[in-house]
Amino acid sequence: MSDSKIVNGLSVDVEDWFQVGAFETTIARHDWDGLELRVGDNVARILDLFDRSGVKATFFTLGWVAERNKAAMRAIVERGHELASHGYDHTRVFTFSPAEFAEDLAKARAILEDAGGQAITGYRAPSFSIDARNPWAHEVLAEQGYTYSSSVAPVVHDHYGWREAPRFAFNPVVDSELVEIPVTTAILRGKRLAAGGGGFFRVLPYGFSRWAIGQVNREGRPAVFYFHPWEIDPDQPRVAGAPLRSRLRHYTNLAKMADKLSVLLGDFAWDRMDALAEREKPFSLEWAA
Ligand SMILES: [Zn+2]
Repeated sequence: MSDSKIVNGLSVDVEDWFQVGAFETTIARHDWDGLELRVGDNVARILDLFDRSGVKATFFTLGWVAERNKAAMRAIVERGHELASHGYDHTRVFTFSPAEFAEDLAKARAILEDAGGQAITGYRAPSFSIDARNPWAHEVLAEQGYTYSSSVAPVVHDHYGWREAPRFAFNPVVDSELVEIPVTTAILRGKRLAAGGGGFFRVLPYGFSRWAIGQVNREGRPAVFYFHPWEIDPDQPRVAGAPLRSRLRHYTNLAKMADKLSVLLGDFAWDRMDALAEREKPFSLEWAA
């Protein structure tokens, strides 16, 4: 294992194949109930993969998914992982008013706590949708007693990003313990690159991710990595009407993903996000927008 002293954060954003941001203009929310549910089986495969690698992780899960996959939610908790919130139905946070966001958080939390039987203390915004448009979102999370959030991508990307935000743990709300742990960026020629997973991990050669996570660990800090259950499912239905760019990004290298993940899990040290948040507290910057 390289850089074995630094323990990184491992996370899964639990949503089904038809709930991704890239398809939201193609598949309407009111059509979701007619579609094949595959996320439960994919979570089961991920749990086996994590057991084989001996790692624990955080599953940021949609309330909509938890309502329909209670056995998978119980399995996540029983096998030693953290169940956390990804909101109810993947609505991006900057489209909510503060009151609507509070309502979405409360709804998802009630479902997740019922399904998993444990308190929910962590949150990840759908599509990293806390940025310069809605810094109030962290105040809402603090009011609801969340201990940490991992909802900021401190980078510019075509779908998301908060360029000015710190790259590592920060306290976004004055007089609150809430820690924001941004998804990982690496520095190349002075520029921040998104390097925390998702399409980047799946589409680019593994060497890019190994370099990026290694660089962050050599800075003395933990990386935060994420992927989705649909990314290990090469047999998922194909969405015909979606834009070509979305389809290319979504369907590339699905069959290679599980093996690639196994290598990543063996090359670095990993833990749940709540454990990472606890370790990062003393190093958190005060940074309120
Ligand atoms: Zn998501």
